[in-house]
Amino acid sequence: MRRLNLSGLVLLCALLSQPVPATLAQQGRSVATAPAAASANASASFTAEREAANRITAEQMKEYLYFIASDEMAGRDTPSPGLNATAKFIADKLARLKFKPMGDKGSYFQRIALNRTEIDRDKTRAELAGQTFKVGDDFVPTSSNSGEAVGQLVYVGHGWVIKSKNVNAYEGLDVKDKFMVVAGSGTSIPSGVAMRELKAGDWENPVSYAQRHGAKGIIFVPRNYERAWRYAARSVARTSYQVERLQLGAGQGDDEDSGDKPSTGKLLMIMPSTEMLDALFAGEQLDGAQLLQAALAGQPGKGFALSTNKRLRLSVQIKLTPASTQNVVAVLEGRDSKLRKEYVAFGAHYDHVGANGGGCRPVNGDSICNGADDDGSGTTALLTMAEAFARGPRPKRSILFVWHAGEEKGLWGSEYFTNYPTVPLKQIVAQLNIDMIGRSKKDGDTNPKNRLLTGPEEIYVIGSRMMSTGLADLNEQINHSYLNLKYNFHYDEPGDPERLFYRSDHFNYARKGIPIIFFFDGVHEDYHQPSDSPDKIDYQKMERVARTIFILGSELANAPGRPVIDKQIPASQLEQ
Ligand SMILES: [Zn+2]
Repeated sequence: MRRLNLSGLVLLCALLSQPVPATLAQQGRSVATAPAAASANASASFTAEREAANRITAEQMKEYLYFIASDEMAGRDTPSPGLNATAKFIADKLARLKFKPMGDKGSYFQRIALNRTEIDRDKTRAELAGQTFKVGDDFVPTSSNSGEAVGQLVYVGHGWVIKSKNVNAYEGLDVKDKFMVVAGSGTSIPSGVAMRELKAGDWENPVSYAQRHGAKGIIFVPRNYERAWRYAARSVARTSYQVERLQLGAGQGDDEDSGDKPSTGKLLMIMPSTEMLDALFAGEQLDGAQLLQAALAGQPGKGFALSTNKRLRLSVQIKLTPASTQNVVAVLEGRDSKLRKEYVAFGAHYDHVGANGGGCRPVNGDSICNGADDDGSGTTALLTMAEAFARGPRPKRSILFVWHAGEEKGLWGSEYFTNYPTVPLKQIVAQLNIDMIGRSKKDGDTNPKNRLLTGPEEIYVIGSRMMSTGLADLNEQINHSYLNLKYNFHYDEPGDPERLFYRSDHFNYARKGIPIIFFFDGVHEDYHQPSDSPDKIDYQKMERVARTIFILGSELANAPGRPVIDKQIPASQLEQ
């Protein structure tokens, strides 16, 4: 176990002599301080929490997971009938448990409008000084806007204006009737500025600026260029979906609770290949390679107009077909009249990569990626936790459950929920994200693909120390005094090449300033394969991990104070 803060240590030793330790929330002083008198009730509530946790059983999980990860669900792609059937399965359970629906219009479903996009490859092209550029090879549309435009080019650096910070990327630049080239993704804030510093009316991102100043279009060179290009270029070839309200460039609203976002109007938006970038910046003060370096480093530098004899002709034709999917959202209201306004959030994603191509490549004739571990295990764990909470005792704070859709597509469901929350984000005291907790490494397993898979008594804990020392301490103390699982912090290193911190839904909560903990068992041989099936799951492990997280959530929900945020994640680390 990691070093405890001094105050917790003294208290812990004293308590350990007692039959049942007092609530651990009181040990992490940065969470709450409570008079000794309360410890008797606290130990009683801790006992009650353990009894409630015992309701989470491997048998029940097995029964649910065999349904959720069955071939009938066809790999739960977003959107798909299998995903909808799973959503209904979860909602039916929640209704029976009398959870409060926290989706739209009194339902458990938070509808997410999608556009099914099909790029007309013949009519989507670009041309510059006689050189033509093909969609998919030389550029990729990054929004579903269609149209034609011709114009000169102007490089605008990161493209932001933040008045209170004297940031203005457009000093001396005129973007009217031109294409803006932006080093960034349109939603990523310039380095050195934190999201929480943005005040309503004080800032403008490249998209809203382009619209207000009559630019013809935007050419994005995002910071994670290579990954973004690989993903985008792949999506051109196949039918893909976009979340209408999360469009690259859809712009972050002035305030997270301000409802609908400015539309992107007729702005054409693309991402160029490195070849196209070289052609655009040939002979300029920055060439294509230098610009890419500047974008990757997050040091875009000052903007400049490209030579006036350069005129880009761009045509983008995209056929849009409306579609939709949904997050499943429910609340168990707390029993304390004051604290029930605060929420402990539990999250998992109930989607997976589907079947027959797309994110799922058939193997030996099996073309359905059942996603039993990813993330059928988290989906099931949340269901059994909901059942355990429903049978009481009811915690003081409210419990929020969100089953996210579209995680495999790019964390869609959690980005949507945290952009359009159905409870005030500021009231969420912590988010506990469960994504893959059902597999364990067997003794003697030498398969290199299972090298970093955790053992039966082990789980990766990611992000717990990033924002709240108290939350991290509480998590470790509870584990220590309960099932004492081996908490592995291997992926907690900021420079982790696997970038696990960015690869699941907690990331979008962290971006909004909510302290998170991500529980994960490790990549294994069946990751995103048709062979990720329910018969491979270690249900005893799932039960242990789920019970431990349940007690952590209960402690957070009953603690006198909410976890204190004593650290901020650097803005540069908050960019995907
Ligand atoms: Zn997953």
